[in-house]
Amino acid sequence: LRRRAKNFLKRNGLLTLSVLAVLTGCVLGFSLRGSQLSTQAKIYFSFPGELLMRMLKMLILPLITSSLMSGLSSMESKACCRMGVLTVTYYLWTTFIAVVVGILLVIIIKPGVGTDMESNRLGGGPVMTSADALLDLIRNMVPSNLIEATFQQYKTDLLPILKLPARTVKPNFVYVVPDDSDPSGRTVYLELTPPPEIHYKTSPGSSQQMNVLGIVIFSATMGLLLGRMGERGAPLVNVCQCINECVMKIINAAVWYFPFGIIFLVAGKILDMQDPSTLGRKLGWYTITVLAGLFVHGLILLPLFYFILTRKNPFTYIRGLLQAMVIALATSSSSATLPITMKCLLENCQVDRQIARFVLPVGATINMDGTALYEAVAAIFIAQVNDYELDLGQLVTISITATAASIGAAGIPQAGLVTMVIVLTSVGLPPDDITLIVAIDWVLDRFRTMINVLGDALAAGIIAHLCRKDFPLSGTAHPSYGTQD
Ligand code: ASP
Repeated sequence: LRRRAKNFLKRNGLLTLSVLAVLTGCVLGFSLRGSQLSTQAKIYFSFPGELLMRMLKMLILPLITSSLMSGLSSMESKACCRMGVLTVTYYLWTTFIAVVVGILLVIIIKPGVGTDMESNRLGGGPVMTSADALLDLIRNMVPSNLIEATFQQYKTDLLPILKLPARTVKPNFVYVVPDDSDPSGRTVYLELTPPPEIHYKTSPGSSQQMNVLGIVIFSATMGLLLGRMGERGAPLVNVCQCINECVMKIINAAVWYFPFGIIFLVAGKILDMQDPSTLGRKLGWYTITVLAGLFVHGLILLPLFYFILTRKNPFTYIRGLLQAMVIALATSSSSATLPITMKCLLENCQVDRQIARFVLPVGATINMDGTALYEAVAAIFIAQVNDYELDLGQLVTISITATAASIGAAGIPQAGLVTMVIVLTSVGLPPDDITLIVAIDWVLDRFRTMINVLGDALAAGIIAHLCRKDFPLSGTAHPSYGTQD
């Protein structure tokens, strides 16, 4: 037994530490909640967690650019095309299924029907159409300045819609503050829990984010062209391969810091959260509906698709991804989790490198099943709170706009809350009503991010299987996880 325990710890040591870190963070956070820490003390307390987020974010840019450029450069155009089409088709299909699961559950459970919640129906707020959202998505695909894309303000064109009337600004709710430095007055910051007098413009949760979608498109194009250039492109491909190897080495070293960072990341968030007893019954049912939907989609439907398409045991595959899912739970960001997802896929699930290097970065930007499901549930929940009957046409509109809004959402904490305005306005619901669900959003965000990450990783396994003729190494089983059960 001792030898077995030792073996288990040797193989799953980091995972065990990360899970313990999440639990310790919860205990620490809840036990310190009564101690009335000052804002300054909370900043110092959360510092190790902030460092963890910064480390992960630091790795995203070199990882995405080097992965895509070196990965796609060595592929044949036909294989590349097949893989690209399969990936995008699979992503769209699973996102749509997630939305349908969400809609069915919210219609059956009816979390918003009853009387313990008041709508904020303020009317007259600025409205964004789905066409605006689509333009914004395309705009992000073509960054006007690549350097700026690495630190651009996240979706400056989307955020102004959230400029809420002053009366909706309550403690611990959404603060939207016009940026003084922007002469057009259009840029706003979405602040969630810090007290109103303080705005951390560069801390986690602020709007300083890179345009990952633009970088993915540019790097993929470069990779494809480098492959066509043969000898002349080889030096740059070598540089990218070197960078990629170095980044993976940095990740391997950095993961040992993660459990420590996770403790303070989780505890810091719990210190800031609103008192759960004030949330009310409807919000409780809403939370249960979203979690049930995520469970059904992530642990029943997606594994089923994996099994049908590959004839392999999905849960053995998922076991290799647990480390990435814990990081997703702790950071609420699928982009920040990308380096760990990549590590898990390559080391534990033995997915072909070239496939993982393409499918994962693309998935982290456009494939968000958890977010799509949540957006559909939230929109219908808000309709129920408003006593607003939705007809079949409107349900179809919600399913299409929720899919589109999840594609447009960045892989950062609570991005889904911002893009949900598109879904609400598409069926005439008051966008200001996102304040009804914002108090519980940070919790749901963690779980939907886990499903987003799981969806990308399962997709990589499926695409690797479907393209195994183009990539002979794909789908080989790892000795410790054995995908061929
Ligand atoms: N936090 C999610 C992610 O990074 C996006 C969201 O739903 O807000 O995948």
